[in-house]
Amino acid sequence: MARTMNDIVIAGAGQAGARAAEALRARGFTGSITMIGEEPHPPYERPQLSKSLLQSSDAPVAYIKQAADWTKTLDIRIETGAAAIECDADRRIVSTADGRNFRFDGLLLATGTRPRRLSALEDAQIEVQYLRSVEDALRFRRHIQAKSRIAIVGGGVIGLEAACAAARSGCHVTVIENEERLLARAFPPLVSSLVADRHRGHGVTFVFGATVTGSTSRSVDLSNGAEIAADLVLVGVGVTPSAELAVRLGLPAAEGIAVDACGRTAAPDIFCAGDAALQWSRCHGRAIRVETWANAQNQAISVAANMIGETVEYNDPPWFWTDQYDLNIQVTGDMRDAEHVARGDPNGDRFSIIAMRGAELVGALSVNAAKDMAMLRRVIAANARPRRADLEAPGYDLRSALKSH
Ligand code: NDP
Repeated sequence: MARTMNDIVIAGAGQAGARAAEALRARGFTGSITMIGEEPHPPYERPQLSKSLLQSSDAPVAYIKQAADWTKTLDIRIETGAAAIECDADRRIVSTADGRNFRFDGLLLATGTRPRRLSALEDAQIEVQYLRSVEDALRFRRHIQAKSRIAIVGGGVIGLEAACAAARSGCHVTVIENEERLLARAFPPLVSSLVADRHRGHGVTFVFGATVTGSTSRSVDLSNGAEIAADLVLVGVGVTPSAELAVRLGLPAAEGIAVDACGRTAAPDIFCAGDAALQWSRCHGRAIRVETWANAQNQAISVAANMIGETVEYNDPPWFWTDQYDLNIQVTGDMRDAEHVARGDPNGDRFSIIAMRGAELVGALSVNAAKDMAMLRRVIAANARPRRADLEAPGYDLRSALKSH
């Protein structure tokens, strides 16, 4: 029999934890809610760290709510500056690094991810930065205003958005990517080239097929034998789930914390939401971690509902966007191992590419075509199956795919 939920503890005060907490109150939960966060701030959304916060020296940090609003308006206890590191599943107690205990009937793991570190740069003399927190973003911002020479390891979303901000501020930027092209997991080759050319037009240099193997105080050494002069290295080579609590609970967590469509883990009354959750994706045909703003918000809201006895399955295809110079690129679902169908001129600056496996639409990417993407997201989420010939026809209205579905 389901346990009565009087006390809910949310481990992790990022976007997912915060949206879940708000949703619990919005759905009428009157018991206690305690949100425990490692960072010293109230929750905030992370897209600003590589976007708005880097665009000017005085762009302010946007918090989801100020600490007083969590406590006064929503009656949510928020404990910041204390990581939840221990969990006793039998006694239902979560403990923080500073030794405090919190009892729960239901626990939400919303602990997110942390940057993968590059062992070649541990104990380096050159300044090495990662971009995950407000403090990281403000520190990087000071450097780009000083027009530093910046080596960026990783041509993924962090590396490219940071490169864009740094190049615009007049820095000398080199991006080192171990694949032969940018964002190889999400972009078709022609979009990787489009993005690389835009960066080159702003003075960014790329080194492909290489990584960093060492450093001096003023340079980094690459696996291809090159040496890149730099004042600062920014590393954006992906993330790993923060899963210490899950491990304490005996949940397998190497690839993420496995959940069902309601966000339930294998442990009773323990749920997981956000970046750390390993959830089934129809588009990918396997369970994946979805490290996106949209998932941190919407999956967390549905998991909160499930914690208090509703049944709300979350199956939205993954979706993210990136802004680089004049390019707004959005990706939904999975673009890999699929046939690609173009809508519009893929050699231009505004088009979409749809990924099909047989008759199934499994992904889409848009370049400066946000309206098209809004419809494509709906078509893919509905698992509608418009014909390839229709998709390619100029002027084909995607709404008809939804109507005939
Ligand atoms: P990504 O996984 O997006 O990109 C990392 C890139 O670095 C990949 O291209 C990867 O190649 C490459 N790489 C991995 N190891 C090395 C290495 N040793 N040397 C050189 N290159 C390497 O991760 P990020 O760090 O960019 O982003 C971290 C998180 O932040 C992600 O979860 C992302 O979703 C999120 N984020 C999202 C944004 C958005 O949605 N716009 C913006 C910023 C961050 P390979 O594929 O071969 O591993």
